[in-house]
Amino acid sequence: MNCDIKSQTAEELQKQFLEWDQPSYRVAQLLAWLYERRASQWSEMTNLPKALRELLSRQFSFETLELVTKQGSPDSTQKFLWRLGDGALVESVLIPASPALYGEASDRHTLCVSTQVGCAYGCRFCASGLDGWKRNLGVHEIVEQILAVERWNATQSPADPQTRLINNLVIMGMGEPLANYENLMKALKILNASWGGGIGARKITISTSGLAPQIRKLADEPLQFRLALSLHGATDEIRGRIMPVNRKYPLTVLANALEYYQSKRGRMITFEYILIAGVNDGLDQVKPLSELARRLNAKVNLIPYNKVDGLPWERPDEATQDAFLAAVTACGTTATLRREKGHDIDAACGQLRLRTEQGLTKHLSA
Ligand code: SAH
Ligand code: SF4
Repeated sequence: MNCDIKSQTAEELQKQFLEWDQPSYRVAQLLAWLYERRASQWSEMTNLPKALRELLSRQFSFETLELVTKQGSPDSTQKFLWRLGDGALVESVLIPASPALYGEASDRHTLCVSTQVGCAYGCRFCASGLDGWKRNLGVHEIVEQILAVERWNATQSPADPQTRLINNLVIMGMGEPLANYENLMKALKILNASWGGGIGARKITISTSGLAPQIRKLADEPLQFRLALSLHGATDEIRGRIMPVNRKYPLTVLANALEYYQSKRGRMITFEYILIAGVNDGLDQVKPLSELARRLNAKVNLIPYNKVDGLPWERPDEATQDAFLAAVTACGTTATLRREKGHDIDAACGQLRLRTEQGLTKHLSA
C-alpha cells in the first residue's frame, strides 16, 4: 500500500493509469467519483471495471473520517470531531455564510480545517497546543475533512446529494498550517482544482502564528491564497508573553516577511487579534497595532477570547472590547470586532478534542 487515493493529483493519476495501460477517461471517471459524488468506497465506482478497481485498491488506501461527535445546529456553527485511521482526533468547524469575515460575500458555508494533530507552538491561550504536537495530517486527511462534511450534508438533504455546501475554507483548525507546508499545499491544490474540490484560491485563507520563512515561501506559490496572521500582540513584549513563536520570529522579522508577501501578492492581509482580559487589551497596543496594519495594508479582526477549560485567561467585557475597536478605528485602521460564532459550543480550535480526550482519559482511568 503506497498512499491514499485522495492525496493524488490528476497528473499523478494520469501517469499511473498510463503505466497500467488504462485510457485517460478512466481518470476523469475516478475523479468524478471522488470529488463530485464523494464516494466512500471503491465498490461504489460502478462504471470502473472491477479489475481496475482491484488495481486501485492494491495501490492506494481509501480512508474516510469517522464522525465521533457533532455539536451545533444547522443554522449556527457546527463542529465535527473526527477519528483518523490511527485513532487520533481532529476537528472541523462549519460556519454559515458570514460575508464580512475573510473573503468576499458568500451564500454558502465556510469550513475551518485542521492541519495537525495537536500543535507544537504552545501559544499560552490555545487548547490545541496543550498536549503538544502529535503528527502532521496527511494530504488525504486534510482533503477528507471537506469531503466528509459534504457527505454528511448530503445525508441531511438527500434531494440533491451532489450540491456543494462549502465554498470557503479557513485553515484555522488545530495545528500550525505552515509547519505542515508540503502536505497543506498539495491538499489545497487538490481542493482548488477544477477536477477536485473546485474551491477558488481566493476563497481559501491560511492562518499562521507567524512562521516567517514559510510566509515568504507562500508568497512565491502559484496559487494566490489569502493570509491571516495571528498577531494577538503588537509589541514583542506582549506578543512574546503569550506566543513563544515570537521569540524565534520577532515582530521585525515577521513584518519583513509579511512585507515580502505583500509585495508579491498586493493582497490585503488580515491580522487576527484575540482580546484577552488584562493581557493584550490595553490601549497601549493600539498605536503599534495600527502602525503595523498600515505598513502591511492589513485589516484587523478583533476576536473576544473563548475561554478554555483549565486555562486562566478570560475575555474582556464588551465595553472594553468596544473601546479597543473604537481606538483602532480612530487611527484610521480597518477593523472589525467578531463576536465569536459558536462560542456556546466551544468553537475555538482544539476545544472539542480536548474535552473529548479528557473525557476518554477519565473514562479509561475510572
Ligand atoms: N496555528 C494557526 C491556525 C490555527 S489557530 C494560528 O495560530 O494562526 C486559529 C486561530 O484561533 C488563531 O488566530 C488562534 O490564535 C485562535 N485561537 C486559539 N485559541 C483561541 C481561543 N481560545 N479563543 C479565540 N481564538 C483562539
Ligand atoms: Fe498552535 Fe495556532 Fe494554537 Fe498557537 S494558536 S498553539 S500556533 S494552533
